[in-house]
Amino acid sequence: MTTQAQTLHPTHTTADGKKLVTVIPGDGIGPEVVAATQRIIAATGAPLAWDEHPAGASVFKQGLPSGVPDETIQSILRTRVALKGPLETPVGYGEKSANVTLRKLFETYGNIRPVRELPGVPTPYSGRGIDLVVVRENVEDLYAGIEYMQTPGVAECLKLISRKGCEKIVRLAFEVARAEGRTKVHCATKSNIMKLTEGTMKHVFEEVAQEYPDIEAQHIIVDNCAHQLVKKPEQFQVIVTTNMNGDILSDLTSALIGGLGFAASSNIGRDVAIFEAVHGSAPKYAGKDTINPTAMILSGVQMLRYLGEFTAASLIENAILVTLASGIRTRDVQGDAGAVGTTAYTDAIISNLGKTAPNWQIRDYKPIQMPSVPTEIAFTKANERRVVGVDIFVESGEDAETLGPSLTALAAGTPLHLKLISNRGTRVYPPTGAITDCADHWRCRFLLNDEQHGDLDDATLIALLERVGKQHRWMHIEKLNEFDGAPGFTKDQGED
Ligand code: NAD
Repeated sequence: MTTQAQTLHPTHTTADGKKLVTVIPGDGIGPEVVAATQRIIAATGAPLAWDEHPAGASVFKQGLPSGVPDETIQSILRTRVALKGPLETPVGYGEKSANVTLRKLFETYGNIRPVRELPGVPTPYSGRGIDLVVVRENVEDLYAGIEYMQTPGVAECLKLISRKGCEKIVRLAFEVARAEGRTKVHCATKSNIMKLTEGTMKHVFEEVAQEYPDIEAQHIIVDNCAHQLVKKPEQFQVIVTTNMNGDILSDLTSALIGGLGFAASSNIGRDVAIFEAVHGSAPKYAGKDTINPTAMILSGVQMLRYLGEFTAASLIENAILVTLASGIRTRDVQGDAGAVGTTAYTDAIISNLGKTAPNWQIRDYKPIQMPSVPTEIAFTKANERRVVGVDIFVESGEDAETLGPSLTALAAGTPLHLKLISNRGTRVYPPTGAITDCADHWRCRFLLNDEQHGDLDDATLIALLERVGKQHRWMHIEKLNEFDGAPGFTKDQGED
């Protein structure tokens, strides 16, 4: 992967010179917040045109399992930019989330979620100047959605983290920092426990940080990051992290500045960008002209900057600060007494375009230099590789003391021997004296007898599987690879 940056992908321009944007009104409160955003953008005079298409509940109900019709996909492929209202994931239809589908379809790998303290929105942190961005990896990790019931009682979810995916998101985080004049990036991982998956993100972060000597780089364990975010959030400027960590941390950060009504986001990739509020469709407030459209409007502000419309973006951001500072607030902040409705709040922002709030400044933004992403498959070659053994996962109601000798006997006379058995990651055979509450799911690790020089071939592996399968039910295998002399697998708790 090259280290060069490239400018944003060109967008579609209409015959009269306007930038065309796909707009998806969405479900529940979606149409209200999207319409408010469109009205405000129109009032700035920014040269945008809209191409409206559906997705979400109405589409699921017509029987399309993805929730995203082809007309919408084609529009986004044309415009490359979408403004999207929240989409409901209807319970009982068995579909995947249309939101996740959209993010994955267009490989929008970077989820950028900024939060900042706002005037007139009191929180326990008011006055401390919270102003940070969570840059969440958006397509990998546990959200690949690859899950199995390995036994009737034990479920598995694959956590897939690629080096290429980490390089993209980490570079994006540093580029966001540069574009926004920020001086520090934290990387939050759980690499102390998940040394290979979360560890890849940490290693890539430490490597890529060398390319950005102007920006301070610091790794932080994600649980400490959550703790620090509650204790001293103003210490953070940019936090880059894996998908699930980012999902949880960014909901936390939105609560620090007043809640979901103010949490904006963009999903950006090499080719397409989708802008949406963090919140959902809040169905009980749909059509009541009561909800807070700020999150969606600020997502629109991010979109304007992505499109190079910096003046319009600043006009709107300043007008929001002026409006909130003047005490005009929706029900989520104000409570019932004195709150304004969605329409009146939107009108107030429009009337405040061109004004700035005393003592409240916005950042000076430059275009984000998007990381260059090669189109070829990320095929990482190892100079040397060998298979040193195999983990065979067995479903059994027998205990470890029975299984261990049985599997040892089955491997006798083969080039492999049973090294150990673990239950959900804890070694149970040979016994350690640990008190383990076992499930019917056993990882049985077989290593080649000659561990220094061997390379396990498929015929030997299959012969062992056949032997094991005659007496036990196996449901999964994992080859134990060594790449360039380093083990490509972790040890169990209690394994030496
Ligand atoms: P939600 O965000 O819709 O609502 C949670 C609560 O937050 C609401 O009850 C409401 O009190 C408050 N809230 C949310 N947005 C607000 C706003 N703009 N102004 C004022 N208050 C607001 O989350 P949910 O109830 O868990 O989910 C409802 C539906 O939305 C589900 O179908 C879910 O799958 C979907 N959803 C979609 C997205 C998305 O499109 N990106 C995100 C989250 C949830």
